[in-house]
Amino acid sequence: MTDSPFENLPNNSPLQPTKLSLDDTIQFRCHKDIACFNECCKRIDITLTPYDILRLKKRLDLSSTEFLAQHTVPYEMDAHGMPGVKIKTADDNPACPFLGDNGCTVYEDRPTVCRYYALGLMSMHTENSKGDEDTYFLIKEDHCLGHYEPRRLTVQDYRKEQGVEEYDDINREWRQLILKKRSAGPTIGNPSKRSFQFFFMLSYNIDGLRKFIQSDGFAEVYDLDAAAMEPLKTDDVSLLKFGFRLLKQVLFGENTIPVKDDAMQQRVKRRREQIQADPDNPNKHYDGPEMV
Ligand code: SF4
Ligand code: SF4
Repeated sequence: MTDSPFENLPNNSPLQPTKLSLDDTIQFRCHKDIACFNECCKRIDITLTPYDILRLKKRLDLSSTEFLAQHTVPYEMDAHGMPGVKIKTADDNPACPFLGDNGCTVYEDRPTVCRYYALGLMSMHTENSKGDEDTYFLIKEDHCLGHYEPRRLTVQDYRKEQGVEEYDDINREWRQLILKKRSAGPTIGNPSKRSFQFFFMLSYNIDGLRKFIQSDGFAEVYDLDAAAMEPLKTDDVSLLKFGFRLLKQVLFGENTIPVKDDAMQQRVKRRREQIQADPDNPNKHYDGPEMV
């Protein structure tokens, strides 16, 4: 585990090399009448969390597929290619597409990073403590005058004011999953392309996930009764959290979702039927265990 991510910060880095806890005090205020209003939204690099996407796609009345296509670009979160998404900007303009003349046009549903700014959040997976450890740090960029406003408040109160707690609560299991993947290193190895596609769908494409849990393939493997399925069909947050549990189960073997006894046999049978039905499949005449 790294002791501090700030060890090799260049002199001109906007990150302040001081770890802050919830009870620490910062000096900061952002408001509409400040001279730098909107400066921070004119050159962005904003990573989206699953709950950010859910809020924004709802706000814009788009399906998750439409939102992802219109407003995001993919990037790799680590050297293995763990998929992440960022807000897409125009090729010739690094400003946020949600910035209007009077400020943020999606303010009530703005992403986690925007809510935290000028704080940053850093989560660490620690071997000795029971859970993951969150620490905060200050981001001091030259254009941001909020640091000179005469207001002091604790990190805890700033998080409350910015409505970030709800976002962190809902995304908590997802963040744990990423930390676990990072800290596990070679024991998890390099996940397959298929695992990453699954991770992408469960993390960012809630409409795809809803279709998946109502598919024959899902019903063959997972043992959920009608009462357990109901909230997943109608409530996005319940479905998102279920998706995180499913990811933990599939990627790390943390089993919290009941699986049918004959799940594997059913899966092999169905896959074999699909292969037999496909005249071009090279495995058509293979009668052994599942190959593809
Ligand atoms: S979402 Fe809103 S607050 Fe965030 S960068 Fe865009 S305009 Fe600014
Ligand atoms: S004070 Fe900082 S966060 Fe607020 S508008 Fe100005 S640059 Fe953006």
